[in-house]
Amino acid sequence: MRNSDDIWTKVEAHEADYIRLADQVFDTPEVAYTETKSCAAHLARLLAEGARIAENLAGIPTALMGEWGQGGPMIAILGEYDALPALGQEPGVAVQRPLGAAGHGCGHNLLGSAALLAAVALRDWLAETGTPGRVRYYGCPAEEGGAAKAFMVRAGVFADVDAAITWHPGDYTGLMAPVALANMRIDFTFHGRAAHAASSPELGRSGLDAVELMNVGVNYMREHMPDDARVHYAYLDAGGEAPNVVQPRATVRQLIRARDNKGLRDLVARVRKIGDGAALMTETRVETKVVSAVSSMLSSPVLERVMEAQIVTIGAPVFDDADRAFARDIRKTLTNAHIEDTFYRVGREVDASLPLADFVVPLADQRPAGAGSTDVADVSWAVPTVQAWVATCALGTPFHSWQLTAQGKSPAAHKGMIHAAKIMAAVGRDLFAGPDILAQAKAEHAAKLTREPYICPLDPEVMPPISG
Ligand SMILES: [Zn+2]
Repeated sequence: MRNSDDIWTKVEAHEADYIRLADQVFDTPEVAYTETKSCAAHLARLLAEGARIAENLAGIPTALMGEWGQGGPMIAILGEYDALPALGQEPGVAVQRPLGAAGHGCGHNLLGSAALLAAVALRDWLAETGTPGRVRYYGCPAEEGGAAKAFMVRAGVFADVDAAITWHPGDYTGLMAPVALANMRIDFTFHGRAAHAASSPELGRSGLDAVELMNVGVNYMREHMPDDARVHYAYLDAGGEAPNVVQPRATVRQLIRARDNKGLRDLVARVRKIGDGAALMTETRVETKVVSAVSSMLSSPVLERVMEAQIVTIGAPVFDDADRAFARDIRKTLTNAHIEDTFYRVGREVDASLPLADFVVPLADQRPAGAGSTDVADVSWAVPTVQAWVATCALGTPFHSWQLTAQGKSPAAHKGMIHAAKIMAAVGRDLFAGPDILAQAKAEHAAKLTREPYICPLDPEVMPPISG
């Protein structure tokens, strides 16, 4: 049943190099905008594969691209390689064993490697068939909270691309529903006046009070937000540790999410008013700084049909008994709620005996309860974009967990990643082989943008937080 498509063979021809790359990136986990080793590993592969390379995209040292082919359409495959803080974990064991400061708790070591592999397979197909066309791999840093792709879109690095293809590791296989919330992170810093909290409290104006009042205001707003909007917060600076000082300065980060870009702009304006109100109440001054922002996802029904057809053709990754045994061990560390939630999302009865998804989930059956956000969404406004989920871990594994990191170098993860490369390469091949599809996708995209033009959620003065 396998390997009835020549493009899959082209993926398999290179798979050893890319499993090695994924494992190498796993072993050097680096958080947003610090991915120097991971980016260097991807650069080394691009050089080995003879790509034309551009580095330092959008002024970000860990963003790069490699390109092959001549003339024709330009298809982009998007990769990522950033890790998450505090999610270091020994791989291959089903017990929590923290390891290092960061870890691949979202599987981006697999994400980037499969994307680069798909691009290489397409390079081979273009060369072998003599088809005019170019394929480009984008190494995109800082997906986790860094919105790097939004900065890259703002800098125009996708301007000559016709379509973009990507994937994300998951606990099942299927087309990814084109749903992602727009979001913005804003730091609100309140400046007041220090004073002795007992002997002269009347002279003090508390930044900490302002932060607390701001949160009260946001909490009252929640009842009057759209159901799918979200506001989360974290204290970045609570002012200090001494309760007998009126804290002169405090900072809270508000993470605001909304269904679409306009909804985000509306909600951000309301949160800003609450910040102003808290400053007024406490006689402090509020200073705001946008840290990052991403858009909601723009769907591409034409590309989604192409990808869903390819996913149905290839089916789910084929796992073996050893894969299932490890997945079963991981499953023992998860709650029933996690497992039940996964089955709910894929529209199936709970089957506790099934540790790895051996099925494909049609888009029509998916229930994307509780959408997150991704900076892939900004690319979707620049060019028609499509994404797949591919099973790389036990059913029910939550993202951003030690269990996800623990499975990041497993044979099942490698199988899922190779499978993802086959799906992406097959979709790319279909776009090169039938330029009508691409023309339809672009026309559909242009029509959507006419109805709602793209407004970059990042103001021009907001820059990527690159240190050093
Ligand atoms: Zn991720």
